[in-house]
Order: sequence, then structure tokens, then C-alpha cells
Amino acid sequence: MAERCFFVFFKWMEKRYTETHQKIDWKRMEEDIMAKQHAPFRYDYVGSFLRPEKLKEARKALEEGKITAAELKAVEDEAIRDLVKKQKEAGYHVITDGEFRRSTWHLDFMWGFEGVAHKKTEQGIAFQGEDAMLDDTWLTGKIRVGTHPFVEHFRFVKDLEDEHTVAKQTIPAPAQFFAQMLIPGNLEQTRKVYKTDEELMEDIAEGYRKVIRDLYDAGCRNLQLDDCTWGLLVAEGFAGSREEIQESAEKFVKVNNLAIQNQPEDLVITTHVCRGNYHSAYFSSGAYDPIAKPLFGEEQVDAFYLEYDDERSGSFAPLAEVTGEKKVVLGLITTKSPVLEEKEEVKKRIYEATKYIPLDRLYLSPQCGFASCEIGNKLTEEEQWAKLALVKEIAEEVWG
Ligand SMILES: [Zn+2]
Repeated sequence: MAERCFFVFFKWMEKRYTETHQKIDWKRMEEDIMAKQHAPFRYDYVGSFLRPEKLKEARKALEEGKITAAELKAVEDEAIRDLVKKQKEAGYHVITDGEFRRSTWHLDFMWGFEGVAHKKTEQGIAFQGEDAMLDDTWLTGKIRVGTHPFVEHFRFVKDLEDEHTVAKQTIPAPAQFFAQMLIPGNLEQTRKVYKTDEELMEDIAEGYRKVIRDLYDAGCRNLQLDDCTWGLLVAEGFAGSREEIQESAEKFVKVNNLAIQNQPEDLVITTHVCRGNYHSAYFSSGAYDPIAKPLFGEEQVDAFYLEYDDERSGSFAPLAEVTGEKKVVLGLITTKSPVLEEKEEVKKRIYEATKYIPLDRLYLSPQCGFASCEIGNKLTEEEQWAKLALVKEIAEEVWG
């Protein structure tokens, strides 16, 4: 019976491929099946990893003019190869470059577009307990993109895939790009280039569609949009009224959906919703309730990676708004502290979430990356891998 099912499925795939591709590309077919069936994975992670000391030193040396960009790249390549080896040894099915070629999770991506400028910040951004020294990034002209550097970065990871793993590319969500250009310090300049939010959204979305298409052509089947804008809207003490929150939420969903519309069916697109992560400090607190309907209901992604590592994220009740077959990756293990969670406690929480989403559509991961910015969180590499070992152990006990 199993063989028969497999045979029918196989025939169906063969037919589908013969219709859409002139010639059957067996390798690509195999890759597509794997990505579609498994991403996200029962035990998964968000994407960034602690930068090794050697890499930090090399980036500093480049800044001081002591080494060339090519020499830095050689150090990055070696560090990424080593990281992927460890990801595989840890038994994970997703591989990433740990965001080792970036200084931040979001701004470096924006710098890859024409019309975007940046410089070292003087003030930084106030996180809880620490100012995040992220480059000031603003518009100087219309947003356009040629070949984005991340496409080449992705190719490097893609080459390290094997039959058990799928390469994941993380990029900031289009809404993040949009929000960056509307922050108080940037608004006036942005308005010189784009008279309306709609025009700005159109160009951001068009740029993203080009990058996503190029990533797809480079073999990407697992793409994650990292999004802190929602964390901002639900932030306790956020000055906006209910109507203003709804208005912003609608714009964020709109620009995100515009950017990912008409994508190939075999490209898995997920999103990680975040409250900020910088040197173990966070940016905002607040439950998902006020934005659950637009985010979980209207955003056209395949899965949500959600922070649920402490009370700052509120209850699971907003998950009732998740529509269709969308999946939810519960971020129940924290990357902000090295303390290992109680296994039974985590399991209990997974089962609590099944009140709103069936177990079959639930997954487990840390709540965020380990180093959203190159400075990284306050835990050691050894503690980072211990966290991931715990995620895997719990997932295997829950889902078998
Ligand atoms: Zn995060």
C-alpha cells in the first residue's frame, strides 16, 4: 500500500514537472519535495549564530584598513563552512550562514539597494538597558536593485547543502525596510523622494520581488522574512491610538504581501516576528493580541516563527487568528540567557498551544537568533549548541 501511494505521488510529481518544465530535472524535483515537505522543521532555528572570535577580529581589522575585503571574505568562508558543519553535526535539517557576512540582521540588506545610504551612528537606538549602535540608514533616491550581494552569499550556503539539509536565507521583512524609512529622523528626507507611503511601498515590493526571484534562481526554496515592526506596534507604551495601530498594521501586511505575491509554489516563505534582540537586550514587550488578525490572518506566508520565551509575548490565544494551513514555530527556548529551560515545562506549553493550532502544524525553535547583530547575545558558543540540543531533544520527544 505504501509503495502504491508513493508510486501515485511520484507519477503525479512527474506529470506536474513535465507540464511545467520541458525536461525533468530530477535533482531539482528531489530538492523541491524536501523543502516543501519539511520547512519549517520540527526542530528549527531562526538563523543567526554567535560570531567566532577570529571573524570579529577580521571585521575589525578590515575597518582599520589592516586587511583587504578579499582577506575578510576568506575568513568568513572558513567560519561559515565550520558553522554549517556544526549545524549538520547537531542533526538539524536547515543550514544558514549564521549571518556571518553581516553586521546587523536588517540594515546590511538595505545597503544592497540603490538609493540607500548609511553611516556610523552617533546616538544609536535605545534598547532596554543598552543603546544599540546600529548605522543610521536613510534614502538618497528611488529604491532600485541590481544584483543584490545576498544572492552570492546564498549560493555559498546552497553549495554546502546535502541530501539531509536545506539552505535557508533570512532577510528583513519588506515592512522593516518601509518602517526604517519612516522613522522620525528619516521621514523628512524620505518625503523628498516619495510623496506617499504607497509609492514607497511599490518600489520596496518591486525591489524585493527582484531579489526573491534571483534567490530562487540560485536555488533558494526556504526564505524567512525577519520582522520587528509588529513588536513595535504591540510595544507597551507605544504612543499610537488603536486606529493608528490598525492603520500601520494594514500597511505592514500590504507591503509584505506585495513583495511575496506571485512567488513560485515550491518556495517556502516564512516570517519571524520579533521584539528586538541586541546583546541579550530587547527593544519592546507586548502580546500579539492587537495585531493578530492582520498578521496571522492576512499575511500570506507559510509559517510564523514566534517569540514565546517569556511573559513579554503574552498568551497563545491570538494563535486562534492563524488562517488556512499556516504553521507556527513556537520560540519557547530563549537565546537571551544560557540557562537551559525545564524540558517538561516546555512540553506543557507546546500542548497548551494545541488549544489553538493542531500539534501537526506546530514546531519548536529558539525565540530568536543567537546574534541578530555581530555583537551577539550573552552566552557562549558551547551554551548556544546546548540550547539547540535541547530544542531537538524536546521536539523528538513530542513529535517522535
Ligand atoms: Zn528575533
